[in-house]
Amino acid sequence: MTAAEPVDRFFRGRRAVLLTKHGKERAIRPAFEARTGCELLVRADFDTDRFGTFTREVARPGSQLDAARIKARKGMELTGLDLGLASEGTFGPHPAIPFLPWNCELVLLLDDRIGLELHGEYAGENTNYGHALVAGWDEAAEFARSAGFPAHALVLRPDHDAHPAIEKGIASWDCLREALTAALTASATGRAFLETDMRAHVNPTRMANIRAAAEDLVRKMLSPCPACGQPGFAPVRRVTGLPCELCGEPTPLVACVVYACSKCGFSREDPVKERTAPPDVCPCCNP
Ligand SMILES: [Zn+2]
Ligand SMILES: [Zn+2]
Repeated sequence: MTAAEPVDRFFRGRRAVLLTKHGKERAIRPAFEARTGCELLVRADFDTDRFGTFTREVARPGSQLDAARIKARKGMELTGLDLGLASEGTFGPHPAIPFLPWNCELVLLLDDRIGLELHGEYAGENTNYGHALVAGWDEAAEFARSAGFPAHALVLRPDHDAHPAIEKGIASWDCLREALTAALTASATGRAFLETDMRAHVNPTRMANIRAAAEDLVRKMLSPCPACGQPGFAPVRRVTGLPCELCGEPTPLVACVVYACSKCGFSREDPVKERTAPPDVCPCCNP
């Protein structure tokens, strides 16, 4: 292979399958089709909820990446295509500031023609993820406003987070009022469990994060390995230890990013553009 050959030759003119009944193609298709030259085939007739739901009726199989692999593989099985995509999100507390919410979105690509697995990622606090136990309309309305309702939908049920009488996709004030009356009537405790609906088609913030993960994936697909030319030369690790500008000792800041090829094993360390770290993050100068 020669370096002059564009890396998108691996993908151009191919078809990739995405199983989604939650409109995720709206987030993935624009960057994916325009920049890789692939066509996205959407299958909305397969119930991806059997691989886990955010509202806990079905537990997700294994890790976030495992779940994405199962979905991508299923789409490839159903269509016979050798290129499969899947998107999988997780929500939880911020890794450093536990009272803030956190969202991690993966968009995975499996390519059986060239034996490649790549994933793009978004990780950050841009999410409305949250819940509240409410006893009446004022509390419900306050939570709804804080969650970006009605542009973002809500889920409601009586009493607690596992009650089977679940109402999803509540997206208007009238529906919320009606659902709240029903949930409080059915409740044993006089409270209702209200939470954000994290399904992509009713959560524009999550949709934007899936789009960012898809763009990250496309960047990786179009980054050729300098040694073997295969797609997917991508950051795999960050190495800390950027030297302090005063004393020169290593600090917890990132000093370089390691890129690696999953195919041939070639790797490269790219130093960050800063040469030194400010002394206020230095464990010696500012213990
Ligand atoms: Zn120092
Ligand atoms: Zn390589």
